[in-house]
Amino acid sequence: DGVLFSEVRRPCRVMLLVNPQSGKGQALTLYNNHIQRMLNEAGVPHTLVITERQNHAREVVREADLSQWDALVIMSGDGLLFEVINGLLERSDWEEAIHTPLGILPGGSGNALAASIHHYSGAMPVSSEELLVSCGFLLCKGLVSRMDLASVHLPSSPRLFSFLSLAWGFVADVDVESEKYRHVGAARFTVGTLVRLASLRVYKGKLAYLPAAADCKEEGDLGNRTTLHCNNQSSSFCPASLLCRPSRDSPCQNAAHHTFHNSCHSNNSLKVRRTESTPSRNATKALTGPSDTLLPSLDQPVPSDWVVVQEEDFVLMLAMYQSHLAEDLLAAPDSTLDDGVIHLFYVRAGISRTALLRLFLAMEKGAHLATNCQHLVYSRVRALRLEPYSPKGVITVDGEVVEYGPVQAQVHEGLARLITG
Ligand code: ADP
Ligand code: MG
Repeated sequence: DGVLFSEVRRPCRVMLLVNPQSGKGQALTLYNNHIQRMLNEAGVPHTLVITERQNHAREVVREADLSQWDALVIMSGDGLLFEVINGLLERSDWEEAIHTPLGILPGGSGNALAASIHHYSGAMPVSSEELLVSCGFLLCKGLVSRMDLASVHLPSSPRLFSFLSLAWGFVADVDVESEKYRHVGAARFTVGTLVRLASLRVYKGKLAYLPAAADCKEEGDLGNRTTLHCNNQSSSFCPASLLCRPSRDSPCQNAAHHTFHNSCHSNNSLKVRRTESTPSRNATKALTGPSDTLLPSLDQPVPSDWVVVQEEDFVLMLAMYQSHLAEDLLAAPDSTLDDGVIHLFYVRAGISRTALLRLFLAMEKGAHLATNCQHLVYSRVRALRLEPYSPKGVITVDGEVVEYGPVQAQVHEGLARLITG
């Protein structure tokens, strides 16, 4: 494909948001040692924005004149990208804003999306600075892909957008408790997991989900279900002209991919979107962002085509939209960037500490599903709802703690754009 950055008529302008406090507090050093030269050599001029506090990046992105920027790149953990995505979707021009190509360079302790991008590139697993260098190269290649987001509803907070995960129980507790081990970097999740195993407990609640139409792809059947359910839906918006690079495969498959060049400079690219033409079943009233056509309001029962899980005693619930939960945890090995699927896992109560530890160890290679653990359940879904029974607890979205209580989410296939190399 050549060096895409050199094809553009003028250099791309990249805003590089760096969180100096992320991870072990080394993001700026890592930038100076690795990234600055790499970007300069690739001819990618960039402006550093060093974040000063929580929500700084969110505010910057919410107010920015996006016509001045061709890409927003985050050098931090997943937490900073969470802010940027939510900032973009809070804008009145959110439909265009969310098409701004995003990039991520792992500089935090939770670098799950960076690890996912590296994994999707087909390269062997690496960590720490090797992962950073790999993501730096992928960024310089400048190929933009679509990325799924999920919208998340909570009882009294505004709707959130999530690019990675929704967790409750064991994983959410580890997310929070491991904050105090952040000085060990990405190993904080390993340490946190071992500590949590010692105080393993049961979490009670009700879980329901809308299954993904799994058979749709094989049969090539668009069916009568809402178009959003069908993987083959991509064919109907395949922008055959400007955006698709000629491809040996079916054009639809590559509709998700176009060059940084095109996305930077073709106005048309901003207008081509997956249309969610289905009339809203119970669209929530949101000021900005796409409407959640699959979700009734939280106080209404779930629709009849949803599956209500019989068990009410869990050890964890984990919904993933990308492959990695952490640098060394391949939680959803089948996930791709824009499969339009929420990969839902839950572990039923009754699992032994040893078996749970075995699951997490197997997860390093994405082999946990192959362990045939009777307590682990995996489903591909489009939407889900969780109603915890206990009055106190932890729910995390992309590793960040959110309001605790009933929560529901639906996937928005390919809503964002990410530089994946
Ligand atoms: P990590 O993976 O190390 O947790 P994150 O990117 O998730 O890194 O960042 C953690 C949090 O730090 C984010 O919620 C972000 O809002 C916050 N943050 C950003 N800039 C700063 C800063 N200058 N000081 C303190 N916190 C910050
Ligand atoms: Mg974080």
